[in-house]
Amino acid sequence: MFYYSTQDKSNSVLSAQAIAQGIAQDGGLFVPESFPQITSDELSSMLSMSYRDRAKLIISKYLTDFTPEEIADCVDSAYTAAKFGSDDPAPIASVKYNGAELNLLELWHGPTCAFKDMALQILPHFLTKSLKKVGGGKDAVILVATSGDTGKAALEGFKDVDHTRIIVFYPVDGVSAMQKHQMNTQEGDNVYVCAIRGNFDDAQTAVKKIFTDPATSEILADHNMMFSSANSINWGRLLPQIVYYVSAYCDMVNLGKVNLGDKINITVPTGNFGNILAAYYAREMGLPVKRFICASNSNKVLTDFINTGVYDKNRDFYTTVSPSMDILVSSNLERLLFALSGNSDTLTKSYMDALKTKGVYEVTPEIKEKIQSSFYGGFADEDATAQTIHDLFEQQNYLCDTHTAVAVSVCDAYIKATGDTTPVVIASTASPYKFSKAVLTALDKGDMPESEFDMVEKLHELTGAQVPAPLASLRGKTARFGDVTDKEDMQGVVLRALGIG
Ligand SMILES: *Cc1c(COP(=O)(O)O)cnc(C)c1O
Repeated sequence: MFYYSTQDKSNSVLSAQAIAQGIAQDGGLFVPESFPQITSDELSSMLSMSYRDRAKLIISKYLTDFTPEEIADCVDSAYTAAKFGSDDPAPIASVKYNGAELNLLELWHGPTCAFKDMALQILPHFLTKSLKKVGGGKDAVILVATSGDTGKAALEGFKDVDHTRIIVFYPVDGVSAMQKHQMNTQEGDNVYVCAIRGNFDDAQTAVKKIFTDPATSEILADHNMMFSSANSINWGRLLPQIVYYVSAYCDMVNLGKVNLGDKINITVPTGNFGNILAAYYAREMGLPVKRFICASNSNKVLTDFINTGVYDKNRDFYTTVSPSMDILVSSNLERLLFALSGNSDTLTKSYMDALKTKGVYEVTPEIKEKIQSSFYGGFADEDATAQTIHDLFEQQNYLCDTHTAVAVSVCDAYIKATGDTTPVVIASTASPYKFSKAVLTALDKGDMPESEFDMVEKLHELTGAQVPAPLASLRGKTARFGDVTDKEDMQGVVLRALGIG
């Protein structure tokens, strides 16, 4: 199977090259030339498989330049009970909320307590194998722009991985206290963490620019290094996410929530559009899905886009209690536009050029219609998010984080607006303990403790919800990193961190 660029289809490579490179040379994103299908027999046979076996089956359809042994090695090293708490890394918790049944796909049982672990525990294995095939003996330099969760998950995945270096940039005032502490205490000899004065979009734009700058790449090449990406622009990030939607469907059948072949809806709290795109790709493979409910916070650029066909990033940026969704340029939307335009690289490129120069584009009526037939867009502001955390806990004794609350709120609104009774899976994307202050505030139970870890303790005492061990163990740990830089200086920071600037 070949992958080509959304902005130039003549640029076509095998999966190892796509994963090692991260982004296409022309600035486009790699996508599979066509989607392999899951037959109904296969889906049926997957019902009795473990998560790992389901993963091997799906991944082998895409990484055709990897041997079955290589794929098995990647999967078996990533999804262990030691890392995810059990042999099922993505369990479903069903709750009744305002009268409707919601099936929460808990994707945050990994080492950093956010769904990013589902991809970033396996990406380093994909990448080191890809480098062996196509890297020409170079070391990979992973540049990450993070709105909070990707950074920590990537650091944890890549720490001390041979022939890799990892550098993470996060917005200095744009992440939670726990997220900052998680990153700044990161261990490993090949890691570096730096805050920037700016927001996530600033960080992501600068990283993309450094990444595609030929002069910088040349300096790296002179030192036997090459850039790669752990952001969801990398195909190796999206592929493992397709797996858990297929797996969740199998679990929904096994739990008796749907009959094999019946459709489900999928709700995703969305930022960079990677997670929801993976769900869409699962449907492209034949998974029975009716609608994708795209949930945003107050940065509702996607809600407006789905409702109007106009993508306009020229608007106020809000720092919210769901920081991992504080994004105005959703990178992976590019891949959806490519698919919905009938794989038109020229049209996709024209939209992306307009976004770059004017900050706005409008899709054709045909594309808009296609989007609206598959996607519903809604948003939850700060009050609705807090209310949802509060009400879900009062009704079901179930504690959810701020991002998942956005999804629950929008899903609830969708069900009320449409009366759609299709069984729904909601991606639950983080542990509530990563956002203790906001979650405690939402529960509204008396005084707020001063320190982050006292908040964690109070939340635990109030709810009985288990504190994940990786977070509990950070108490009292001293920070290794604390640098802050201007976004204009990020390139210099990268070269100095690598010892070549
Ligand atoms: C990254 C993240 C999101 C957004 O996911 P995208 O793939 O960027 O759309 C939502 N919730 C949490 C907790 C996240 O870390």
